Amino acid sequence: MSLLSTDQQLTKHSYYAATVQRDRSFPTLQSNLDCDVAVVGGGLAGLSAAIELADRGYSVVLLEAQQVGWGASGRNGGQVIAGLACDQGVIEAQLGLEASRRTWDMTLEAIALIGQRRERFDIDCDWQSGYLSLAVSARKAQALRTWQAQMQRDYGYQTTWITPQDMPRWIASPRFHSGVHDPAGGHLHPLKYSLGLARAADSLGVQIFENSPVTSLEPGATARLRTAQGSVRASHVLLAGNVYLQGLAPMLERRIMPVGTYIIASEVLDPALAASLVPSKSAVCDTNFVLDYFRPTVDHRMLYGGRVSYSTATPMNLAASMQRRMATTFPQLHAAKAEFAWGGFVDISMNRAPDFGRLTDVGASAEHADVYYLQGFSGHGVALTGLAGKLVAEAIAGNAERFDTFARIRHRPFPGGRLLRTPALVAGMAYYRLRDML
Ligand SMILES: Cc1cc2nc3c(=O)[nH]c(=O)nc-3n(C[C@H](O)[C@H](O)[C@H](O)COP(=O)(O)OP(=O)(O)OC[C@H]3O[C@@H](n4cnc5c(N)ncnc54)[C@H](O)[C@@H]3O)c2cc1C
Repeated sequence: MSLLSTDQQLTKHSYYAATVQRDRSFPTLQSNLDCDVAVVGGGLAGLSAAIELADRGYSVVLLEAQQVGWGASGRNGGQVIAGLACDQGVIEAQLGLEASRRTWDMTLEAIALIGQRRERFDIDCDWQSGYLSLAVSARKAQALRTWQAQMQRDYGYQTTWITPQDMPRWIASPRFHSGVHDPAGGHLHPLKYSLGLARAADSLGVQIFENSPVTSLEPGATARLRTAQGSVRASHVLLAGNVYLQGLAPMLERRIMPVGTYIIASEVLDPALAASLVPSKSAVCDTNFVLDYFRPTVDHRMLYGGRVSYSTATPMNLAASMQRRMATTFPQLHAAKAEFAWGGFVDISMNRAPDFGRLTDVGASAEHADVYYLQGFSGHGVALTGLAGKLVAEAIAGNAERFDTFARIRHRPFPGGRLLRTPALVAGMAYYRLRDML
């Protein structure tokens, strides 16, 4: 089964799709258009770039193969997290401390941007502030404590340490040893947010087309993108297609790996029980390599994510196995049914750092100089996509300094190509899973 058809199945049973009214749809491209910037992909990255470009006076056409928010952006855990998926040490080693600090600060700007857009465009997306990073053992707690101290010392980043004695105030679970509370993070309903951004882009004059997969990209001073029934000529192009680009830019595909991750939403719980699980209502993530991430919803459910799949196959008995995971964390929920189960693919890069650049940076000929790309969010994209779109708009408008800070991060392609990289990754992950258990 192809990645795309597995994904069509996975998205059907999402809590988000069930709790959102798609009050408008966008047409299929059926003509030949000219514009300043063509954006491929109607997820958070593409929509953010479109908004920022329209704000700067550019004419923008956004082409989405399915529906806006159909990809990872409309079905993720909704966790808004400071920082990158990789440790800042990865960035420090490559770019030095000063540039690493700039990337860190930009991740905080990414969180602030969500707040600004919610307000400016009046997007109601169930925002809740607070993020808990919790350690499952004394050994992992020590590593978390060291991280917290380093972040305070080198990045001036303040979070609150939660001692083992204090834990019951933060979470009604026997699984965790201690942790960190970050008031800057939080969570939201990602499909409501994505659709809110689409409405915002539309209101700013962005021409959005759905059910319009781009099948070819012809570079040049004016690039041409073709769909089944139309085409777009543009001075600049942004590829924001995540793991779904499907051959449009093969040089990008080797640099990311689609990894499946899965979520359930419990049935509606007794409000008092729901409120007792995570009293601060924060988003929660453990510090394991293969991590569990969860959060309460506004309608008194527990939304619980975890598991991974390195093949594109959906795990067997997904809902039941995730329900057991949830009940291990919260034994109080042993009888709570999983009413929704779904998943999607994250675009992980080899070093988990985001992979932003121009196609010429990854070996394409000079005529691709105005083709930008954003990928490799590695499961940390809800906030960072927003900032990434802003950086592309800045670069197109002539100030590429901040975009290039990220573009300078070096990435290695996954060895072995599409067929061999999966077994290699499975072997690597087995090692990390083992470490999670120690
Ligand atoms: C299950 C899950 C849980 C996650 N949880 C979190 C979380 O809690 N916190 C967090 O920070 N991150 C999380 N992430 C990651 C986050 O969702 C992503 O990093 C982010 O949404 C990526 O946005 P995007 O715009 O790059 O991609 P997408 O949202 O996937 O959008 C890409 C779009 O491009 C379109 N497209 C691709 N190719 C073409 C083409 N040729 N023509 C036209 N359109 C095309 C696709 O149809 C798709 O809609 C999670 C991801 C998943 C899957």
